[in-house]
Amino acid sequence: MSTIKRQQIAAGNWKMNMNYNDGLALAQALVDQNPANNGAHMVLGVPFIHLKGVADIIAGADHIHLAAQNCSEHEKGAYTGQISVDMLNSVGADYVILGHSERREYNAESNALLASKTDRVLAAGLIPIFCCGEALNIREAGTQNAFVANQLQESLFHLSAEDFGKIVIAYEPIWAIGTGVTASPAQAQEMHASIRALIADQYGDEVAEATTILYGGSVKPANAVELFGQPDVDGGLVGGASLKADGFTAIYNAFPAE
Ligand code: PEP
Repeated sequence: MSTIKRQQIAAGNWKMNMNYNDGLALAQALVDQNPANNGAHMVLGVPFIHLKGVADIIAGADHIHLAAQNCSEHEKGAYTGQISVDMLNSVGADYVILGHSERREYNAESNALLASKTDRVLAAGLIPIFCCGEALNIREAGTQNAFVANQLQESLFHLSAEDFGKIVIAYEPIWAIGTGVTASPAQAQEMHASIRALIADQYGDEVAEATTILYGGSVKPANAVELFGQPDVDGGLVGGASLKADGFTAIYNAFPAE
């Protein structure tokens, strides 16, 4: 039995919700509820323009961290409308969500592009939250494990063991995102164990045991305890239910007692 305590994370992905003032109010409410839970990180994945304002609000709350929802694969220069990792660093982001299925679908983000972005994020000293997961037709065909393995292979397995050890993975079956349908705890556990086994094959047991793997897809206060109680589920990436302070605090408090 391993003695490694993996970093537990409840990460919210606000997506393109909340105007600036509403976003700051939500961040302030989460700070005021002050739920610090046994070393677990609460991560707020906010729109770019909210980053600095939210950073200022969470500055005194050690358990709350800041994530961007994307970044450019380029270092800097003539890329109108893009945001660099240096910019994210300069406003206090700690994490960058990469490869969310909405970006893969609407912005045609490929595994190869995500490999470049991962390198960029790591080089800046930020932590990628790398999203992977299959669509419904792939789940129905029973090929989801191979599909996710290919995503990891093409975007992450070029990394050194040292760099891989810095990343967070989020398994997000597309059929469960924003649909109200949640993967069952057994389905989540089965995929997380399969991902951890792949990491062990590539980088060894120690790296695999230390890798935080989040589940995403209609996580709510009502199902978080059971999902986070699975042995290979180290927390969640949460969309809709992260937009209400009480609900997201309840999800953050869903980690099992030691
Ligand atoms: C997400 O977008 O990452 C997500 C998991 O959304 P939801 O929780 O709303 O399903």
